[in-house]
Amino acid sequence: MVMLTAMCLGNANGDEPFPAHCVAGNVYYVGSKALATYLIATPEGHILINSGFEETVPLIRVAVESLGFKMRDVKILLASHAHSDHVAGHALLKEMTGAKVFVMRGDEGVIESGGEGQYLYMTSRWKPCKVDRVLEDGDEVKLGGVSLVARRTPGHTRGCTTWTWKVSEGEKVCDAVVIGSPNVNPGYRLAENKDYPEIADDFAKTFAVLKSLPCDLFLGAHGEYYGMLAKHERLGRDKNPFVDPDGYRAYVELKEKAFRATRADQRAKKSP
Ligand SMILES: [Zn+2]
Repeated sequence: MVMLTAMCLGNANGDEPFPAHCVAGNVYYVGSKALATYLIATPEGHILINSGFEETVPLIRVAVESLGFKMRDVKILLASHAHSDHVAGHALLKEMTGAKVFVMRGDEGVIESGGEGQYLYMTSRWKPCKVDRVLEDGDEVKLGGVSLVARRTPGHTRGCTTWTWKVSEGEKVCDAVVIGSPNVNPGYRLAENKDYPEIADDFAKTFAVLKSLPCDLFLGAHGEYYGMLAKHERLGRDKNPFVDPDGYRAYVELKEKAFRATRADQRAKKSP
């Protein structure tokens, strides 16, 4: 089996609890230390983005309840992308909450089969989860006055999804972005890839989309994308540290450079 790395997975065996915290307005971080899960609270119930591993779900439950919310009020479960560290807990979370599961086209088969059809990670498997709605690029997910927009940002997986929406904080309205993943994982082939022939074009499209998005509130599938640990320490001391438009642009630029360098390298060598 190809090893999923820290870039994608965090530590599969030691995913630690992390204090739940408000990110801005009605958006809360309820994930573990390494795996980000977000709760968007509305008067008609809540939206969750990412379930983590099955083992992460109890940590999410503790985090949600520590904020005074109830798991049974989670109505919709979304995902960043169909790798085990973000969706292996979907079946358990769906069972626990009765939430509807919405998935971007390209990742729905992987979630419904519990891991089949992934690029590269051929043997990674988890509990299959019914998908209630398959999303297309630009689809809106609405609940209780909140409207999240699903942007298809493929490459990392075929249905990798970046979530963007307006968040009200006090009198301000800001643009939130949860990046699905811009990462070219170790072992990914960007040239002559028989299993995922369009992968390089997909990544290129993803960076075009990410650069086009207005972003104030910079979030991602792993806290590591946006420096969550350091920002969390600054919480309450000054302005909201998660509002970081410059950090967003710099991160996307850095990841695009890494993608272009890897693509050029692999095209030149034409071998791993
Ligand atoms: Zn991943």
